[in-house]
Amino acid sequence: MTGSEKKLIIFTDIGDTIIDEGTEIRDEHGIVLRAECIPGARETTLRLHEAGYTIAMVADGRSASFHHMMDQHGLSPVFDAWIISEEVGEDKPSPKMFESAMKALGLTEADKPRIIMIGNNVIRDMRGANRFGIRSVLLDWSDRRSFEPQLPEDVPAYRIHTPEELFPLAERLEAELS
Ligand SMILES: [Mg+2]
Repeated sequence: MTGSEKKLIIFTDIGDTIIDEGTEIRDEHGIVLRAECIPGARETTLRLHEAGYTIAMVADGRSASFHHMMDQHGLSPVFDAWIISEEVGEDKPSPKMFESAMKALGLTEADKPRIIMIGNNVIRDMRGANRFGIRSVLLDWSDRRSFEPQLPEDVPAYRIHTPEELFPLAERLEAELS
């Protein structure tokens, strides 16, 4: 299923990691109908996919919202797994979200060193990933939330400011795994 040439596996949040939450247009039920990408995020996600990285969406929210946004930007085909809290029944930092992504990709405990989790939320994404035993990458592009850790386990393993910085980081981590 993963079938990629790369060892590194990328789990990614969507809101304020790929999509600029400030641009979301929702319907009366709270479903996001459309939204814009963070500058550089679409290009970086496509580039990672084209380079052969396995990418799983690990996102809190409604399934329809993510399908609308990813279809809008032509990003739906880049995801090897869609793990969405509405379907899982729990939000990050629940380990169920990360376990579901591993299961969907056919990964086992031994694969955890190959996985990084990109996100903007220190509790949902950083704490969630760190507790689960995978490496965390904080994207601090958005100023909607504080990046101040509340616990030692909220501290990211890596920190980037723009989506473009993710590609060279992935290539460096891939080289370390090889
Ligand atoms: Mg987010």
